[in-house]
Amino acid sequence: MATSGRTQGRKAAHDEAMRAAAAVAVPGGCDVVVIGCGAAGIVAAASAAEAGADVIALDAADVAAKAILATGNGRCNLTNEALGRPGWEGRYDGAAFVRQVMGDDPLGDVRALFDGCGLALTHGSSVTGETDAMYPRSLRAESVREALLGRALRAGVTIAPARRAMRVVGHRDGLLVRYDELFCGDDPRTVSTSRIILAVGHDGLGAVSGLGLASTPATPVLCPLECVSVDGVDLSAMDGRRAICKVSLESGWEATGEVLFRGYGLSGIVIMDASRRVGEGDVITLDLVDGLTDDQVRRSLDTNSDLSGVIDPTIARALGQDPALARTLRFRVTGMHEEGAQVMRGGLDVDGFEPDTLESRLVPHLHACGEALDVDADCGGFNLTWAWLSGMVAGRAAGGAGRA
Ligand SMILES: Cc1cc2nc3c(=O)[nH]c(=O)nc-3n(C[C@H](O)[C@H](O)[C@H](O)COP(=O)(O)OP(=O)(O)OC[C@H]3O[C@@H](n4cnc5c(N)ncnc54)[C@H](O)[C@@H]3O)c2cc1C
Repeated sequence: MATSGRTQGRKAAHDEAMRAAAAVAVPGGCDVVVIGCGAAGIVAAASAAEAGADVIALDAADVAAKAILATGNGRCNLTNEALGRPGWEGRYDGAAFVRQVMGDDPLGDVRALFDGCGLALTHGSSVTGETDAMYPRSLRAESVREALLGRALRAGVTIAPARRAMRVVGHRDGLLVRYDELFCGDDPRTVSTSRIILAVGHDGLGAVSGLGLASTPATPVLCPLECVSVDGVDLSAMDGRRAICKVSLESGWEATGEVLFRGYGLSGIVIMDASRRVGEGDVITLDLVDGLTDDQVRRSLDTNSDLSGVIDPTIARALGQDPALARTLRFRVTGMHEEGAQVMRGGLDVDGFEPDTLESRLVPHLHACGEALDVDADCGGFNLTWAWLSGMVAGRAAGGAGRA
């Protein structure tokens, strides 16, 4: 009954969103068309309009910037204090390119972006080791979405949801976007434009497949890991339990954070970060008593007959009485648990784009940003920071240059 009520509620919201989308009039031409109005696209659209361009942002979803709502478990981990410290680019794949795009002060630029939208920020929890992660002070992703949509609308962007771009083609001295209106079965519509910003995320590149842009197929990263225990520990007995662990890889990479044990393997932010650096067959070692002395561990064993004084009692029971196991609990990776993937590695090759404008070197007047480009980063707000700042770079460049 409750499920059917929720389903009906979702359908009613979708129908209402489609009616609102159908009411948006999309002109047949403009200076800049942004294809994809997610995290990167909404910032790109606002930045292009603030630079003086007439901007239309098309999105295939029933409402714009919907992807933001699911981020950070509904709280939106929108940036990270580590971006204010030297070496921050090491958190990204394609670090040299990302450094050129995001500039000298990415943290300052993200703060300024949200300051300009009236959005206050706060830090994550010190208990789970997330003190550098930054969230909206409201702890609601909805606040981030509304702040950015408001900024784009105030700048004059025409935001047109429920429009899927199908094809981009060259057209006299400009570009033409063919798109379907998803609320009606009519023939495709077209909009002609001086510049396009491609902000379609990881799965919308079909619209530009005819343009010859070099790309790498997408594979999931930032996922939970499917694993088996090397030490004969029963993972299913620990399903759903958490522990703060130091996680070490054979490559020498180490990080500390909260690990979530699952029947199929390991999850949690620190494991997702590890997933960018491991492959099938690699061994992950967990230290569940990192920071505790051998004496402290021994005292728990002597008093409680297991480690339940220092770690989750269910995990302690699964480990038994061997304190050495808690210091070096090993798992062999058997695969990526793709269902929980937050980001895809792959997309348009960054070598094909100018870092200061994100304009294609092959197709003049076509810019790209966000996950459409082959850039990925650790958990903690680094991926959204890439979306915001690459959107800003593409938007300012296209907006400044694209004015009719
Ligand atoms: C569950 C989850 C939680 C996450 N949490 C965080 C977090 O807390 N912090 C963080 O930094 N990162 C997080 N990420 C990653 C982050 O969401 C992405 O890096 C970011 O959204 C990428 O932005 P984007 O604009 O490139 O793509 P998206 O935000 O995915 O936007 C792409 C948009 O393009 C539209 N589109 C696609 N094809 C077409 C087309 N043909 N025509 C028109 N529109 C089209 C889509 O509808 C969509 O709106 C999370 C990801 C997931 C899945």
